[in-house]
Amino acid sequence: MEKYKIVVTDNRYSNYLEENTVFKELGVKVQIHDFAGPAEAVEVLKDADAVLVNLFSMTKDIINAMDRCKIISRYGVGYDNVDVDAATQKGIWVARVPDYSIEEVSDHALALLLSSVRKIAYKDRMIRSGRWNLHKDWPSYRIAGKTLGIIGFGAIGQKFSVKISGLGLKKVLVHDPYIKPEDIETFGCIPASLNELVKDADYISIHAPLTEKTTELIDRKAFIDMKSSCILINTSRGPLVNEQDLFTALKEGQIAAAGIDVCEVEPLPENSPLRTLDNITLTDHAGWYSEESVVELKTKAAQNILQVLKGNPPVYPVNKPLT
Ligand code: NAD
Repeated sequence: MEKYKIVVTDNRYSNYLEENTVFKELGVKVQIHDFAGPAEAVEVLKDADAVLVNLFSMTKDIINAMDRCKIISRYGVGYDNVDVDAATQKGIWVARVPDYSIEEVSDHALALLLSSVRKIAYKDRMIRSGRWNLHKDWPSYRIAGKTLGIIGFGAIGQKFSVKISGLGLKKVLVHDPYIKPEDIETFGCIPASLNELVKDADYISIHAPLTEKTTELIDRKAFIDMKSSCILINTSRGPLVNEQDLFTALKEGQIAAAGIDVCEVEPLPENSPLRTLDNITLTDHAGWYSEESVVELKTKAAQNILQVLKGNPPVYPVNKPLT
């Protein structure tokens, strides 16, 4: 029998090479499951030492039924599918991987911005349907000399500001109430209030987390305040933008275009009116993905567990368990 029972709750990867490489020194391989519901989870997890969870809901009932578990490690940045309070009470670490896709998401924001400005996705769709000379449809404008606004200046927002610095922008405004103005200035950017940024920017890219305070941060009022030539990019989380207001803004020309990787409801419903608009570029919450980021994610999620089973805190803790 293996020394530790490490369970994967939902099977979303084709192999577990990275995890098993990390656990080699423990002489353990992960046990892969794809739980249909809580009853099956309780049965398997009651004697598990560690849990690797992707999207499966680690509820209070399941957590309370686990008698040996020391850590729940989430594959990803967010952890809203884990009842952290219940885990803390039960003496279980919760951990995550906050930094596996900084390169990918910042690339994706840049790609959506360039696609929107240069109308790449639109032109591709039109050419396939037999059209040409598309510049007559509506005007494009030069990037050099314009103003960019970045909302949320953490790991991804900062990386995005560096990547965008070769485009000849006039200035980059940053709104992040939790970052010191002098730290924003270090990146050659200008600290701004949300209101200033929304009114002044030609392009806006959102990189703040979803919290109570950021829900619908961009709503009807913000769209009305934006320039009619403004392009909005969201690779953060859908609910930061009121989607009905976004539709109206795009439809009625309150803004020029949007590049959207994340929606209020995912997958984007088939009858979403956003699908009918030409001036939006949509991707399927794909900002995080590259083959390299998956390897990094799987390795780091497993390393959180390795550290705890060796008697240390996880590399990226979310809580501090009561023992
Ligand atoms: P981070 O925690 O490093 O940075 C987030 C920044 O947002 C912080 O500096 C914080 O101070 C700031 N912030 C918080 N509240 C704010 C507010 N009200 N207004 C302005 N700024 C505020 O996170 P990160 O790694 O840069 O990731 C940013 C977001 O990207 C994540 O929260 C996640 O939602 C999203 N994300 C998306 C994908 C994808 O596949 N599209 C992948 C990873 C992350």
